Amino acid sequence: MTKETLTIENITLTLERKNIKNMYLRVLPPNGNVKVSAPSFISDEEIVNFIRLKKDWILKKQRYIKENNIKAPLKYDNGEKHYLWGKEYTLQLIKNDNVKHVLLDKEKSIIYLPIAKRSTIEKRKKTLDEFYRNQMKIAIPPVLDKCTKIVGKTPSEVKIRNMKNWGNCRYHDKRITLNLNLAKKDIECLEYVMIHELCHLIEFNHSKKFKNLMDKYCPNWKEIKKRLNE
Ligand SMILES: [Zn+2]
Repeated sequence: MTKETLTIENITLTLERKNIKNMYLRVLPPNGNVKVSAPSFISDEEIVNFIRLKKDWILKKQRYIKENNIKAPLKYDNGEKHYLWGKEYTLQLIKNDNVKHVLLDKEKSIIYLPIAKRSTIEKRKKTLDEFYRNQMKIAIPPVLDKCTKIVGKTPSEVKIRNMKNWGNCRYHDKRITLNLNLAKKDIECLEYVMIHELCHLIEFNHSKKFKNLMDKYCPNWKEIKKRLNE
């Protein structure tokens, strides 16, 4: 296999020539880098023509990645950046059968992720999610205590889930569910979501009345909300 960097039609790309039958083109998040894999026998001219033909598509794809802030999919590999309570950590994999859970070095900002033999991305994600869930379990009680005093309402229980929304409040049984990914954001975000859900125990919608409650109990909620969804 050979690898080189080229610029064709103002597009910078990495070209890999290898023992394959067809030409492949990829535009990768987060920077819109262009990667071309080509069969060894194909001429430079054919590659130039191929890029010319695909130019509009490449530019469109790059624009889409930039405008929608598309991130590279997580691989849970060594050196990858992960977050805990708004702080950046570097992931370090450990292959040790005696270690079953994630270990944290706050000083060095390292998250040690234990991996088993034949570990997959899904398994690594599961181990890390379990860690985030535990972090949430530790963080919630004091936040809940603080926020129930502010809002003057108490939920029947607080559950943690991996879900689409940041939080949810069930009207009929007053149960609040929080997204475990809140452990990646700073603690103020957790407080904001908690207050938001507690306010639903007073006002079960996002009406003007609800927003007035938010203004009262969490004056900078708009700023926190923006940060949360970045
Ligand atoms: Zn809501």
